Amino acid sequence: QAKVRLEPRNREEAAQRISIAFRAPQENFTIRDFELGKVLGVGSHSKVVRAKKKGSEHVYALKIMDKDFIIKENKVTCVKLERIVLDQLDHPGIVGLYFTFQDARCLYMALESCEGGELFDLISKLLLGLQRGRLSEIEARFYTAEVVEALEYLHGLGLIHCDIRPENLLLTADGHIKIADFGCVRPDKDSRITVPLNLLSENTQAFTGRTAYAPPEIQNSSPASPGNDLWALGCTLYHMLAGASPFKDAFELLVFQRIISRGINIPEYFSDEASDLIDKLLDIDPSRRLGAGPDGYLALKLHPFFKGIDWHNLRQGSVRKLA
Ligand code: ATP
Repeated sequence: QAKVRLEPRNREEAAQRISIAFRAPQENFTIRDFELGKVLGVGSHSKVVRAKKKGSEHVYALKIMDKDFIIKENKVTCVKLERIVLDQLDHPGIVGLYFTFQDARCLYMALESCEGGELFDLISKLLLGLQRGRLSEIEARFYTAEVVEALEYLHGLGLIHCDIRPENLLLTADGHIKIADFGCVRPDKDSRITVPLNLLSENTQAFTGRTAYAPPEIQNSSPASPGNDLWALGCTLYHMLAGASPFKDAFELLVFQRIISRGINIPEYFSDEASDLIDKLLDIDPSRRLGAGPDGYLALKLHPFFKGIDWHNLRQGSVRKLA
């Protein structure tokens, strides 16, 4: 997909707009107020660094974005949306945003630090130690349940994440999942989240997440719906159990052909419950995906795959200690 580049005439205007988005509420900090530690991750338009506030014990994951790069890559709307939306969210399954600041060159977002890293790396890491590169069903059940709970909260507010995948699911030091990277987020028409109207009209694309997790309806440019995230959740559960996304191929076009023809191979070692849940999340019709129907999240939480999950005390339990 070709990127739309901003003409130089618009870059000045975009620079002004991006500063306004970061103007309030924000702290008057400078980067010199922090002791920078290791790089926690690198995204397509940011670097995330562990940062301790000098003179305090507060540690943050500082998302650092170069203004010129964001403008050049036409990411202004994504950055503004992420900041505005995260500021209004409050859930243990979603990465918290503490404050923002900026200088002439960069924008900074001080996020809750997820010291356990990406779920993607946890899945791959096991490959080296145990030569399997996938999670057990006990682990996958726990992590999937935590994502379901966070998605229930998001969808209840009328927000679609649009980029659920193992790279955007981060682990805390004590082994809990948090959804990160709200750069693709879309409010639906009944959303209870306040987003300036001009941002919504600038944000016309329905789904901009990665192809391997993209739902088939993106080919019809359908508006974003909770079903988009439920499809990506099905792909993510498959990835946890098999070690790779269900729609894997050498080229993006082939990946997309597999998606629209729903060409999935379910490995024999998947339990009947896991296979059935994946099948019901990967329904071609977004409104029929488990969780999107008339019984909503209750139907999803009551699926036999989640037998034994204590939904009321999910965040009190832990499947492993990562610290
Ligand atoms: P993308 O290309 O995925 O859109 P982006 O530039 O928006 O990337 P993020 O995905 O938000 O950046 O962050 C990049 C990486 O930094 C993440 O994949 C993760 O490894 C790490 N990271 C982000 N937020 C945190 C956090 N709160 N705690 C720890 N690590 C983080």
